[in-house]
Amino acid sequence: MKLSYQDLGQGIFCIDTFYYRPNLDGCYLIQQGDEAALIDTGTSHVAPAVMELLDLRGIRPEQVKYVIPTHVHLDHAGGTGQLMALLPNAQMIIHPMGARHMNHPEKIIAGTIAVYGEEVFKERYGTILPVPEERTIEAEDGFEVSLAGRKLRCIHTLGHARHHFCVWDEQSRGLFTGDTFGISYRELDTDQGPFMFLPSTPIDFDPEAWHDSLNRLTHLNPTQLFLTHFCRVDQPALRAVALHEEIDDYVAIALNAGGEQREQQIREGLTHYYRDRLRQHGSQLSDVEIDEVLGMDIALCAQGLEVWLKRREKQQ
Ligand SMILES: [Zn+2]
Repeated sequence: MKLSYQDLGQGIFCIDTFYYRPNLDGCYLIQQGDEAALIDTGTSHVAPAVMELLDLRGIRPEQVKYVIPTHVHLDHAGGTGQLMALLPNAQMIIHPMGARHMNHPEKIIAGTIAVYGEEVFKERYGTILPVPEERTIEAEDGFEVSLAGRKLRCIHTLGHARHHFCVWDEQSRGLFTGDTFGISYRELDTDQGPFMFLPSTPIDFDPEAWHDSLNRLTHLNPTQLFLTHFCRVDQPALRAVALHEEIDDYVAIALNAGGEQREQQIREGLTHYYRDRLRQHGSQLSDVEIDEVLGMDIALCAQGLEVWLKRREKQQ
């Protein structure tokens, strides 16, 4: 994989992991003094690009102190094992509910192969290495580490996944948001700014918890968001307002669907919803172009809402 990255200032760099396409999935490097950390790692294919950027920045592999996946979904954590093998002093920091999946990735690998098949899995995710238990730090809510004096704090955020945290970097007043602050692709930017949408990906979508998570994060008063999908977005408080609305709209779209083709109806509901929202946002993209950018995500979001409806029915 070739190296493509953006220098975002304050020692923060966003490396494109080329997952599916450029500008979709990022891996962040924070360089502070003679120490460094990585937040989210893309897939196993990312390691050469990361090592190249470390070299360019004059960082030796021994100086990388932490590798911090925000959660264990493979577009965020798939490359962690490979990187840990190349970074001899690094400790992995992970949500307590995600640790065993990183130490013993067999279950995630089998689950993903069941969905995509072995060939696609290999091509998309490569070889996933386990992270040794003795190099694993389980981060409780509020857990803090120091990168040459620069504090990084893990904030548990339910809503997208139960094993998700965000990382608060007080020095830059930036939040590394994983998937909690939604997804924003540059193809959907307009004069009105970035367009955000929620990944209600299977299997943990939780609308109430997601509202709470956004409130907790905005309470920190961040000035910038570092999204894994993709890169920096400003005006967090404004973005949160739109995402709160979206959570409620998702719930309404899911609850309005019914019958045997429920998931298909949700998918269609979301497709129309996003076309409308994008038009309101001033986007000139055609329906076909919107489907090209968002189609895969909408399918996953619909699956996640279907899983949520089923869970809800069981509880009633
Ligand atoms: Zn995720």
